[in-house]
Amino acid sequence: MLSFLSSSTTSPLLYLSRKLSLQTLTRNLSHTTMAINLHTHAFAGNPLRSKTPKPEDPFSPISALETLKTQLLDTSHSLSSPAFKVLPFRKGRPLASSSGGLGDLAPNWQLGWIGLDDCKGYLANSGVQLSADSLVYLGSRPEDDIVYWGIDVSGEGGLVPEFGSKQLSFVELRTLMVATDWADEQAMGELAIAGHARALLEWHSISIFCGNCGEKTVPMEAGRRKQCSNELCKKRIYPRVDPVVIMLVIDKENDRALLSRQSRFVPRMWSCLAGFIEPGESLEEAVRRETWEETGIEVGEVIYHSSQPWPGISYAKCIFLICS
Ligand SMILES: [Zn+2]
Repeated sequence: MLSFLSSSTTSPLLYLSRKLSLQTLTRNLSHTTMAINLHTHAFAGNPLRSKTPKPEDPFSPISALETLKTQLLDTSHSLSSPAFKVLPFRKGRPLASSSGGLGDLAPNWQLGWIGLDDCKGYLANSGVQLSADSLVYLGSRPEDDIVYWGIDVSGEGGLVPEFGSKQLSFVELRTLMVATDWADEQAMGELAIAGHARALLEWHSISIFCGNCGEKTVPMEAGRRKQCSNELCKKRIYPRVDPVVIMLVIDKENDRALLSRQSRFVPRMWSCLAGFIEPGESLEEAVRRETWEETGIEVGEVIYHSSQPWPGISYAKCIFLICS
């Protein structure tokens, strides 16, 4: 069982259950194709990742990095094209602000994008010189002239009060997820951007050395991958993804679902079963093994539902519905 399920995280299938009754799910299982039209996967649907420009395109990682290096050396503050916006993270939390929230209206949140010059200035106030290697490319939108970057400023504690004076603070991703209207496509896109950036920055922080020879790694392609600095090795290193299965085991005949709970759960909190996929194991085998290991129950048909990214520990989640 995954340890993170014992925290305050509720699995996507439990969110799903708010909208669809078990009877509906069971009825749909009689069809080969799931009839559930689910557009509400948190952290999926990143609008910056829909299409990676070709290398010669000024919005591509390689071209944008060259422009970025020029801009970092340029002290004239001349306007560049494309423009750059940076999203700072501190300990896995993106910079964000909120607005509204008057009366019965829930407040809206926005990611705390800052301009490149402002980012340079904030760090300079903390005695840090902004370098291109500390920024990771996040992408661009087709509708604007901007390339978006992420940066980890966890080591710069002095930035917290500075941002705070501008009504900006570092907010836990789960808090943003709960505060998001899941029917709001734009807000869900912002959440996905933040999730992607966090996963990428976290991977950078734990892939400092080459797993092949132990030498230091250096960022490549504007931080989208890394490479060993040892000329004799030069191993290419890509962001790591740890696939997980989450399954709702259903007893169709008796109209029941199998859930589990851990001793650390708050009262009345139950979760779907879940677990990591082991090397050499298919998704279906992982579903059957995990269910057997956790509950001693053997499952029958395994039906794939959908998948979603899960930032923080670089998981890609795979979701299944199962008949037992
Ligand atoms: Zn190496």
